[in-house]
Amino acid sequence: MVYNFSAQQLLNFLLPVSCGLCNAPTNRRFPLCRPCQNELPVIINACPVCALPVTSAVPCGKCQQHQPAYNQVHALFLYQEPVKFLVQQFKFNRKLEYARLFSALIAEKIEILAEQPELIIPVPLHSSRLRKRGYNQAWELTKHLSRLTNIPIDHRVCSRAIKTPLQTGLKASERRHNLKQAFAITTDVKDRHICIVDDVMTTGSTLEAISSALKMAGAASVSGIVVARAIL
Ligand SMILES: [Zn+2]
Ligand SMILES: [Zn+2]
Repeated sequence: MVYNFSAQQLLNFLLPVSCGLCNAPTNRRFPLCRPCQNELPVIINACPVCALPVTSAVPCGKCQQHQPAYNQVHALFLYQEPVKFLVQQFKFNRKLEYARLFSALIAEKIEILAEQPELIIPVPLHSSRLRKRGYNQAWELTKHLSRLTNIPIDHRVCSRAIKTPLQTGLKASERRHNLKQAFAITTDVKDRHICIVDDVMTTGSTLEAISSALKMAGAASVSGIVVARAIL
């Protein structure tokens, strides 16, 4: 058997893992020590539909006015420091080891859900962006998550049919406009319970666009699970 380790992977394997936040050595497989993990900003009360922090257990005003195409979204943390730093390291700085950490935490969250998804899918990147970045962070999360939960993964379910401009800095209405028809459903999803995995949810327009495409293709339910929920 031929093992194809990069020098960095080999170093990661041989050296003790140190915490990405305080630099203390950890005896974990994740680059985050337990005390730093305990300090991460969890959402105490979340809207049961869109995961926005709320003061009571009922859906937020926005979800009451307009029911999104997805049934519900779960978020591990608020998208604020130091989660923002960890996610950006993972997403833009090739710190793929954070996928192990985030997916282990997502797996714990999924385990306690009343209904388990039948299938998990990553938010797709357009092929040209994938070539540029070299990896899709949502796929990295979903891959580990499937291994941990035994929930099947299928990255072919949804593809990005149109390359949309980067969504950063755009208003919710502009994001929605950009994402209309951006996703194509390419396998049979009829009557299936599907969970979409992503790193950050900001306005929710990406999850909304994919969920709406999945529902049009006959999916029974669509949920989302993300590492962090941003508040605009
Ligand atoms: Zn630490
Ligand atoms: Zn809501």
